[in-house]
Amino acid sequence: MQHRVTFIPGDGIGPEVAKATQRVLETAGVQFQWDNVIIGSQAQDMFGTPLPESALQSIKRNKVALKGPVTTPIGSGFRSVNVALRQKLDLYACLRPYKTYHGVHTPYKDIDIVVVRENTEDLYSGIEFAKDGPETLKLVDFVLETTGEEIKRDSAVSLKVISQTASRRIVKFAFDYARQNGRKKVTAVHKANILKFSDGLFLDTARQVAKGYPEIEFTDIVVDAACMQLVRRPKQFDVLVLPNFYGDFISDLCAGLVGGLGLAPGANIGDDIAVFEPTHGSAPKYTGQNKVNPMAMMLSGVMMLRYLGERDSADKLERAIAEVIAEGKDITYDLKLDPEDSTAVGTSQVADAVIQKLKPKS
Ligand code: NAD
Repeated sequence: MQHRVTFIPGDGIGPEVAKATQRVLETAGVQFQWDNVIIGSQAQDMFGTPLPESALQSIKRNKVALKGPVTTPIGSGFRSVNVALRQKLDLYACLRPYKTYHGVHTPYKDIDIVVVRENTEDLYSGIEFAKDGPETLKLVDFVLETTGEEIKRDSAVSLKVISQTASRRIVKFAFDYARQNGRKKVTAVHKANILKFSDGLFLDTARQVAKGYPEIEFTDIVVDAACMQLVRRPKQFDVLVLPNFYGDFISDLCAGLVGGLGLAPGANIGDDIAVFEPTHGSAPKYTGQNKVNPMAMMLSGVMMLRYLGERDSADKLERAIAEVIAEGKDITYDLKLDPEDSTAVGTSQVADAVIQKLKPKS
């Protein structure tokens, strides 16, 4: 069966890792018809918007997209196109499995943690009030009148929004994932001891949802303790479910446990649409150098194959990637013990090596 998939190369290192991934997917025994789409600053130049309606329509039509990272200019220009894409398509669940492959240089062995990050609200709601703005001053007055609390008049304010609806569906997603994948435990990560209303609501909702899954253990932990415990005893964790903001940095921490961002895949999933993309960003300083590791995006491709029901091809591709890592020969600088190691290969050579593993042995 042929799968029609929206293909978004992204920018920075995006096009290189996306091309490498496309090549290995096409060798994994599945037919694809790619619908090429551009978003980000290139789309801004071409269409006057970083997220053209035609791109959204393509994803809505195909229901599945493979996406490279897209740069977000800091402090000016458009708000993150990545966040906008997730919000517009209601891709409420960010699913990121982190596991150690044999041969990776990391003090942590046999890690197998799945991060389920809420993707639509929290500090990423996009509702912000700039310093000196008339709305900001109104907000400052409103807070003083209603709570007696004084916010300095030269403040900027960003809203942390946590709804019961979004909390319920993300925790349900985490438990359903655990149930479907034979996982034993779900841990909610929060800061409900301080943020009594927002994170308190997330935690209360998680406790309610957990009652519907009696066969799966439920625990919770405050986010600072979670950081420490992940570094000290990561194997106690199985599936983590988090509000959006904590999910961002816990994802990178977990990537660090398993060998870095070059091995950290991901997916943004809604009720009937999924966009597969690595955890990492566009690493602009490496653009066009054929240097970075394409495996995070390849492993996102493995997740996509599983989502499409192509389990055999997914297993085959994951095995091929694992073999290349274990051999330690055709790997990029980030997987070398010494990142300056001159035997490190480039992005496209990693794809060549994975393709070689996928070919039938003669
Ligand atoms: P980044 O993840 O792009 O890169 C940080 C560092 O991690 C790089 O300098 C590099 O040393 C390493 N790295 C990242 N990917 C790697 C790979 N595949 N192989 C080897 N090493 C790798 O983070 P950043 O520099 O904070 O962000 C750059 C841009 O990407 C920003 O504009 C940010 O907003 C954007 N971003 C986009 C996405 C997305 O598209 N989903 C996600 C995160 C960040």
